Amino acid sequence: MNDVIIVGGGPGGLLFGHLFQQNDVKYLILEKESIGNSFRKMRPNMVLLSPAIPGTDWTSLTLKQPIWAIDGVSKPYPTRDDFVCYLERFAVDNALDVKEHTPVESVQRDGGSFKVVCGDGAYHSKYVVLATGFYAKPRYPGIPGIEGNPYVTHYANFFGCMAYQGKKVLVVGGGNSAAEIAIELSGVCDVTLKTRGPLRFFSETDDLGDIRGFSESVLKELIRFNIIKHVMDSDIRGFEGDTVIFESGKSKRFDKIILATGFLPDFPPLKDMEIKCGNNGVPLITKGGESVSAEGVFFGGSLAMFHSRCRFIHGFRNEAEKVAWKIFDRL
Ligand SMILES: Cc1cc2nc3c(=O)[nH]c(=O)nc-3n(C[C@H](O)[C@H](O)[C@H](O)COP(=O)(O)OP(=O)(O)OC[C@H]3O[C@@H](n4cnc5c(N)ncnc54)[C@H](O)[C@@H]3O)c2cc1C
Repeated sequence: MNDVIIVGGGPGGLLFGHLFQQNDVKYLILEKESIGNSFRKMRPNMVLLSPAIPGTDWTSLTLKQPIWAIDGVSKPYPTRDDFVCYLERFAVDNALDVKEHTPVESVQRDGGSFKVVCGDGAYHSKYVVLATGFYAKPRYPGIPGIEGNPYVTHYANFFGCMAYQGKKVLVVGGGNSAAEIAIELSGVCDVTLKTRGPLRFFSETDDLGDIRGFSESVLKELIRFNIIKHVMDSDIRGFEGDTVIFESGKSKRFDKIILATGFLPDFPPLKDMEIKCGNNGVPLITKGGESVSAEGVFFGGSLAMFHSRCRFIHGFRNEAEKVAWKIFDRL
């Protein structure tokens, strides 16, 4: 019997494994694919938004094992590849107990403990930490004509801009992901960026979710030069194949429509337990990271939304110890 099973081998799950390891807690991390799976699936050219240099490190899982100390890591912003390598190295250096390629199908109560069911059998533990991510599944807006439309795809499927050379592409969304791919696409195709209102920039709003870093200045300039066309005056009423119908009644044809409309959290089903969730399916938690409705079920990483900064590593890494201590106290 494990003391704790952690579901998810992303940054959040690995950090918990490290905390439990340091405190002689018997734990096991179950990861459905490979360590750092969410970052492995992001587009290859991606550069992180969180800086990582001595003194301002928003990326490392702990400041004692910083990513910037590894030879060859890009600074001040590591690349996606740097980060995946760092996560793998973090797991190896700390000898973390991670079982990869083990998707958790469900979690259920088993007397006073938990039974975590996977394809290859069941694992038992006294407590469960779900660290399956806030950015777990693509979010599609409720606009008619999206479902089954071959001209519409989600940012999650965007690999690189060469597939769109010479095409007319509409990017829908006003966040960093939309800005990044619109900039990348603008070098090879005719790109229109559709937002629901004015663009929001970090330097003006102080909100880390708004467009920031390199994208902020470059996007402003590309729009100013009309290299990227920015449309915000009329909402989208629907899609008819390759044609976008605007509320104004106007319509426009595109070769591809890319929805950079965000992601939603996800976690495996908890049988016979109610997991109360708030906005956008984010689990409601106590100050110690425990589900408000299912005793013994804890949330970690970006899924434990103590505050909005927990969407990012530097936000949730500061909360992890508090959650781990809640569990230590009960063992
Ligand atoms: C495009 C994009 C760029 C981002 N850039 C940054 C950035 O620069 N800096 C930053 O701090 N944050 C960034 N984020 C936010 C980032 O996603 C989080 O900081 C980080 O990934 C959260 O870690 P996590 O462990 O909570 O979740 P994840 O990294 O999503 O890890 C969850 C893990 O759980 C696994 N899993 C899911 N379901 C199961 C299951 N049923 N069984 C077993 N395993 C399962 C997944 O395979 C995955 O490995 C970005 C997000 C996106 C979408």
